[in-house]
Amino acid sequence: MTGSQRAARVIAVANQKGGVGKTTTAVNLATALAACEQRCLLLDLDPQSNATTGLGLERPKAADSIYAGLIQGRDLAALTVKTKVPRLELIPATVDLAGAEVELGQEGEGREARLTQGLASQRSVYDYILIDCPPSLGFLTLNALVAADAVLVPLQAEYYALEGLSHLLRTVERVKRSFNADLEILGVVLTMIDRRTSLSEMVEADVRAHMGNLVFETSIPRNVRVSEAPSHGLPALLYDLSCQGSQAYLKLASELLRRESARVAA
Ligand code: ADP
Ligand code: MG
Repeated sequence: MTGSQRAARVIAVANQKGGVGKTTTAVNLATALAACEQRCLLLDLDPQSNATTGLGLERPKAADSIYAGLIQGRDLAALTVKTKVPRLELIPATVDLAGAEVELGQEGEGREARLTQGLASQRSVYDYILIDCPPSLGFLTLNALVAADAVLVPLQAEYYALEGLSHLLRTVERVKRSFNADLEILGVVLTMIDRRTSLSEMVEADVRAHMGNLVFETSIPRNVRVSEAPSHGLPALLYDLSCQGSQAYLKLASELLRRESARVAA
């Protein structure tokens, strides 16, 4: 693909539950896609800024973070920084983003479309733009869902996993009706699967029975190397490429690319 023909797919990595593997998936899937020659932008939309620090970057001043893009209308290109991963760039977050949640809530018309506007000029620059959403369904996640072409839902294999999922799916339906008719569910990816416990397997079977093809074939195993990587400021793929978790994220990226080319051909 040449630069001029590029039209990024914008994927929101979302689940209102915390600790399910959103950030881990956003960072490592983006790294794996970059390893597959895709030009990627990761947008950190969580005030906790775990994607920013997990890539070994300092939290910037608010004026140089996504906060400025959302609230002050700063050009997102000016906020984009390089990472250690070739072809992966990042728009960092800071804790100030928690204030953006409130400030957006106080604004009137167009408050849900701030990110859509900001990303418009960036779509020609990348193949994939991944948005790491916060663990809520507030205005930040709403901006992500309105700006996105598709939602990727990391789901931790545990009891009640499906209950939380139906809440998110209802939100997606509401966003489709009101703001973004073309929004698709890209899929559900099961995370932190522990093959040694029958609970993991039961939940996985249950989610697959209910959600069918929407569930990625690739699931992500629980792997201590994956959880260690952020404290070294590295994606798991750079910290330990051969570990099971890194290999699973590479497999997930190739499954995603396969699904995407099937979609484009259809
Ligand atoms: P979220 O962004 O949804 O809150 P995170 O990606 O931050 O979730 O993951 C929550 C915690 O679980 C983190 O400490 C992370 O390192 C850990 N974790 C995520 N995925 C895995 C995995 N496959 N194996 C082991 N630990 C994981
Ligand atoms: Mg997170």
